[in-house]
Amino acid sequence: MAEQRSLFTKSFIRFLGTGGSRFTVMSQLRASGGLWFQWKDLSFSIDPGPGSLVRMHQTHPPLDPAKLDGILLSHKHLDHSSDLNVLVEAMTGGGFHKRGLVIAPSDAINGREKILYSYLRSKIFKLHTWEDGKRFQLTLNGALDVEGVSLIHHGVECFGMVFREQGQHLWGLISDTRLEKHWIERFSGCPILVINMTLSHKRANLDHLSPEDVKYIIRELNPPLTIITHFGRGVLKDGPDKIAQKLSTKNNKVVAAEDGLVVNLSI
Ligand SMILES: [Zn+2]
Ligand SMILES: [Zn+2]
Repeated sequence: MAEQRSLFTKSFIRFLGTGGSRFTVMSQLRASGGLWFQWKDLSFSIDPGPGSLVRMHQTHPPLDPAKLDGILLSHKHLDHSSDLNVLVEAMTGGGFHKRGLVIAPSDAINGREKILYSYLRSKIFKLHTWEDGKRFQLTLNGALDVEGVSLIHHGVECFGMVFREQGQHLWGLISDTRLEKHWIERFSGCPILVINMTLSHKRANLDHLSPEDVKYIIRELNPPLTIITHFGRGVLKDGPDKIAQKLSTKNNKVVAAEDGLVVNLSI
């Protein structure tokens, strides 16, 4: 019980699932479901793909979706958003309490193909759409905020996220994207980078990152810790740990995420 309490007062990222690409997700070679980001007593779901709700309940101790304070969506592809509506329902006490925050791309909320049910919209206390470079407060006193970074991903709006605690970089998430120099520097200063590395090899026609791209990003940004995740089948075949080892340098540790991995953010 003491362990359970201490877990929830700490700040951490939990990888509910580490599978990316439609084939890994549909076969569940790795679980899917995105991330749980705990910051002190505040809880956020990031990119709740298939299984997110179930994975929360299967975690020991369980992560309670009814306690969520916010849901952050990088983009509307299914592997990032399928559990959005059920988590909104959980966060709002079955729709009986107007509460919580949702930040999502505009095309997910207002586009032709909306992915948030209209009957749930009014239950959310604050519903925002990302704007490149705009920072959103995640706490009432401004101690934690998130900045959206516009990425490039197969014709949908897609945003990376930079979290800052008291104005200092805490961690950054580079979601699904092709490598473009202009967004890399926006993650500069993040001591921890989470990178969706879906491809085992660079493919010009796919807007996803490969080990070659991650190597480039690390060289540019020099982050002490990089965690690769969101693996496609090719990455799983080559071995995420092997790839991480090859990408690690003396000053830049690279870790391959596993389902259930917890990364502690507390000092
Ligand atoms: Zn994806
Ligand atoms: Zn995607």
